[in-house]
Amino acid sequence: MKTILPPHLKPSQKVEDPATILEEAREICKGTQNGSFVTPGSKYNNCFAMAQPQVSNKPLRYFVINPITASQVAKDFSGLVVINPRILEKDKSSKVMSLEGCMSYPFRPEKKVKRYAKIKVTYSVIEDLKNPKVVHVESREIKDFTAFVCLHELEHLDGKSIFTN
Ligand SMILES: [Zn+2]
Repeated sequence: MKTILPPHLKPSQKVEDPATILEEAREICKGTQNGSFVTPGSKYNNCFAMAQPQVSNKPLRYFVINPITASQVAKDFSGLVVINPRILEKDKSSKVMSLEGCMSYPFRPEKKVKRYAKIKVTYSVIEDLKNPKVVHVESREIKDFTAFVCLHELEHLDGKSIFTN
C-alpha cells in the first residue's frame, strides 16, 4: 500500500491516456475514504481530495475527490477523478481567506491562504470509477469550497503546497 510521501517538488506530467491511471485512481479514491494513506498520528484523518503526486514518485497531473466528504465538489466537477486541470480565468475580485490543512504535512496546523473564490477551469473527468468513462470539460465555472479544493490540488500538481508557496 502506498503512503503519503514527503512532499517533493517535481512538477507532474500530463496524463496522456486516462486508461493508464484507472487502477491507481481507484486505489487513491479508496485511500481518501479509508485512511490507508494517513501518517500515524496525523492531525488529518481524511481528506476532501488527494493529488496523485502526494502518493507517487512518478507525479501525474490528476487528483481524486473523496466522494463522501466532498460529494458537492464531485458534483461540481461531474466526477471523481479530475485529469489535466488548467485554470482559464480567475475572478480577481473574488479573493478570500481559506483555512486549509494538508495531508502532506500531517503535523502542521491549518493555515490561512488567500484563494480565488471563483475560477474557470478546463479538465477531463472520470465520473464513476466502476464504469469509467472520460468526459472532457471545455470550460466550467467553479466557486467557493470547490474552487479552494481545486486550487489546493493544482498546487500539488505543480510541485507546490500551502506551506511552500
Ligand atoms: Zn495538500
